[in-house]
Amino acid sequence: MKVKSPLEIYRLLPKTNCKECGYDTCMSLAAHIIDRSAKPEDCKPLVEDAKHDDEARQNLEKLIELTSPEIDEVIVGKDLKIGGEEVLHRHELTFFNPTALFFDVWDTMDDKEIDRRCSKVVGYRKFYVGRFLTLDGIAVRCTSGNPERFAEVAKKVAGYGSPIVLVSLNASCMRAALEAVGEHNPLIYAATLENWEEFLKLALEFKTPVVVRSQDLDALKSLAATFRSSGVKVVLDPVTEPVGEGLRETFERVIQLRRTAILGGDKEIACPLIITPIAAWKAEGDAVSRAYWETVIASLFIIKYGDAMILHSLEPYTIMPLIMLRANIYTDPRTPVQVEAGLREINSPDPDSPVFITTNFALTYYTVESDLTSGKIKGWLLVLDTEGLGVEVSVAGGQFTAEKVKELIDKTGVAEKVNHSYLVIPGLAARLQGAIEDETGWRVLVGPTDSGRIKGWLEKNWPPK
Ligand code: SF4
Repeated sequence: MKVKSPLEIYRLLPKTNCKECGYDTCMSLAAHIIDRSAKPEDCKPLVEDAKHDDEARQNLEKLIELTSPEIDEVIVGKDLKIGGEEVLHRHELTFFNPTALFFDVWDTMDDKEIDRRCSKVVGYRKFYVGRFLTLDGIAVRCTSGNPERFAEVAKKVAGYGSPIVLVSLNASCMRAALEAVGEHNPLIYAATLENWEEFLKLALEFKTPVVVRSQDLDALKSLAATFRSSGVKVVLDPVTEPVGEGLRETFERVIQLRRTAILGGDKEIACPLIITPIAAWKAEGDAVSRAYWETVIASLFIIKYGDAMILHSLEPYTIMPLIMLRANIYTDPRTPVQVEAGLREINSPDPDSPVFITTNFALTYYTVESDLTSGKIKGWLLVLDTEGLGVEVSVAGGQFTAEKVKELIDKTGVAEKVNHSYLVIPGLAARLQGAIEDETGWRVLVGPTDSGRIKGWLEKNWPPK
């Protein structure tokens, strides 16, 4: 995005504050366009005026140009976004669209095994800091060389509803698969120097995004320019080599592509990058060591610019580190991860149950909640809005104060739910004990510094003497 201030966007909007975009003012829409939660086309009056008014059309075109991401955004399936990044380093802004992870099946595979793998991909969920992490889609590889079989398997996989990558360099096989599942907007992999003319026809006919593939970056750029000038959405594959010098060179190609796109402003290669850690399965070694290398390669390119990936191993010991790394890389560094403030009921508490308080920093909250729940402790848990900061930092920084605790007690009505007035505060907030007692009139008990010790602490301290 070339603009940093909402004012630069505001001056190109109609400035009538008509609210048709769902925001109260044009400035509010401008602010949402800046943080990418809205787009210029959300201003319906501007879109309508642009159909017959030259100035409105120029303003709309200018807005779209100014606000389009540095790296093109490509949609696969219904709404899986790939690319769309603005910066080289997460701390400069944030990364927006997490690396899309596709897992392979192939068309010489037994149908039952295809179903088993598809079900695993589609059904995978891992709870992590307040949300479920999932996998993104399935890559269907043509290993039969048989168009009918490839189409049959593509159709079967499409039935699972996940985004698909169709993998074949053979235009006849790709055509058959596209005739079967083209309506699902698959990503087609891959156009090369050898097959690009036929693949360009396919991409145009079926209106699908396409991967262009070459180790030679000049050839890759030329392929990308050809497809993009025809209006086709492009993903770049600079070819992943899994070991030795080849891996080093792969890394260098990826860095060069992204630096040239963002720092050099080279729009022709400002496209998402697809990486194929699955190449590790061509290297020597047993299944575990290949899965290990696949995970190492995938980790490297989750950190550095892989917008999509094709992987093979569905073992928990390979998936878990990848999705957790991805979750952390693609967390907005400008916004602490936080949960809603308020009162939570843990394990169906009663009026005799203790009242605890913690902060709304997601990591703190879920640790405390999980320790209480798994310890089978009945309790009332007050969650204080500390702007997403943990206990120690928020006490020091003034976000965890006696006044805010009183406000929370009053707002949640917790006093009416219990027949006592004892509040258990975290050990790391001990220095607020007196201030909270003075402010709230509640008796404050200082709990342990580690919520994992609450169970033992309660055995000695609850009910209070
Ligand atoms: S729809 Fe357009 S003109 Fe109306 S408030 Fe939104 S930005 Fe302003």
